[in-house]
Amino acid sequence: MKGNQQVAGMICLAFGLLSAMVAPARAAELVIEQVTVVSPQLAAPQLKQNVLIRDGRIVSVSPKPVSAATGATRIDGKGKFLTPGLMDSHVHVGEVPGFPLLTDADPALSAIRDAYTRQQPRSYLYYGVTQVLNLLSSSEAAAAFEVQPQHPDLYRCGAAVVLDGYPTAFIEDKAVRYKAMPDYIYEPANAAKHPLPAGADPAQHTPEAIIGKLATSDVRCIKIFIEDGFGPASDWPIMSKETLQRVRAETRKRGLLLIAHANAIDMQRIAVEAQVDVLAHGLWNWNEYSTDQGVPPVIAAHLREIHAKKIGYQPTLRVIAGLADLFREDTLKDPAYAKVVPPALLAWYSTPAGQWFKEEMRKGMGGVPDLKAMHTYMVISSYGMRATKYLSDLGHPLLLGSDTPSAPTFGAQPGYDTYREMRMMAQSGVPLPAIFRAGTINNARQFGLDKDYGTVEAGKVANLLLLTANPLETMRAWTSIDRVILRGSAIKRESLAAPRE
Ligand SMILES: [Zn+2]
Repeated sequence: MKGNQQVAGMICLAFGLLSAMVAPARAAELVIEQVTVVSPQLAAPQLKQNVLIRDGRIVSVSPKPVSAATGATRIDGKGKFLTPGLMDSHVHVGEVPGFPLLTDADPALSAIRDAYTRQQPRSYLYYGVTQVLNLLSSSEAAAAFEVQPQHPDLYRCGAAVVLDGYPTAFIEDKAVRYKAMPDYIYEPANAAKHPLPAGADPAQHTPEAIIGKLATSDVRCIKIFIEDGFGPASDWPIMSKETLQRVRAETRKRGLLLIAHANAIDMQRIAVEAQVDVLAHGLWNWNEYSTDQGVPPVIAAHLREIHAKKIGYQPTLRVIAGLADLFREDTLKDPAYAKVVPPALLAWYSTPAGQWFKEEMRKGMGGVPDLKAMHTYMVISSYGMRATKYLSDLGHPLLLGSDTPSAPTFGAQPGYDTYREMRMMAQSGVPLPAIFRAGTINNARQFGLDKDYGTVEAGKVANLLLLTANPLETMRAWTSIDRVILRGSAIKRESLAAPRE
């Protein structure tokens, strides 16, 4: 027995050495031949290009034939289009769309959660998303995402909330609230209504201390929340001007981007005056400036200031559309859902338990019928679309961010919502080339990743898409993905669909 094991071990060793000598050249080279390259730095698509990829990076893009190592994988790109992989710069990888908050203890849901965790990164890839920026989720959730065998490259932001403010304001039990997001900033201006919890050290909850703590983890940005309530509500605490200035100064000092949740005109004014780097949402709450059509002067002036100050703008049109879809009767019958949602989760959505958030939203709207509720959200959505079109017309470089999932709605799904976000940008009147840049070079530049991503060029990470239609000509290109190339490995799109168990 022992002898046999030794022999087996030696065979393995020999085989390992052999494959180590042969494998790198064989496995790590990919050539895409005679392909049309569509990339943001090019004035026009370049025909009949040969692209050599080695060890996960692009080596060359050239009309000349490529001499690759023998055994390199070759893909015939004739009639196909090679683009950079998409980046979605606003995702939350820890949240299962439609799940109740704080469900960890529920054993019935944990198997569904596991299935979702396995499929989620593949669903992003299925829609061509090869990089994501994770805003606000636990490091455990990020780790669970990255441990999956096929996943987009993941980058992170840290989140600094104000004590008792959004998004922890929803959590009634204060002990749970502080445990859920321990990195809160104490706001002395709110001390009367929101005193520092007993036992907390004020020195550890200053803007400098919190940002300093978040900066020690691997983050590119700090997200803050300028939100005093949804709809007519406005009683959640927000940062004072002075605190916001200290947050701004500390993020600059540490070389971190400052990204702000704000989607109402009064809240976005605070963000723009504080000179944040990125607005994590579009402007769909116009408050007293609401009109049936066009963009009123106050809103227009605000949008022009965003453009003048070069503040990044994520329209996140799917946030409100994902609420409208709660009330749309065919949402769960959409054939795309079967591709990105595990069957057990899809089945659960149709159960009474799976409809909890829809019922809660309906109650909040006075128990109105589905069509009325859907219409209400579509109207709100139209404001965001008009603001997006206005900025696009100014030539503002928009950022593709889906905010999946923005709320516990089954109307938001990984990957599919990145695509639907682009589709809504198109429906808003944003030209296809601007949408293309939003999902590629604009996101890469904004988040300091353009050395590695955003174009099809020598030296960049080989996260690419092989499409059967030109995305500068048709939105259909983004659902006509032949292969997703992830760090140099070509993956057939259909293999990324949710398994039908
Ligand atoms: Zn978000």
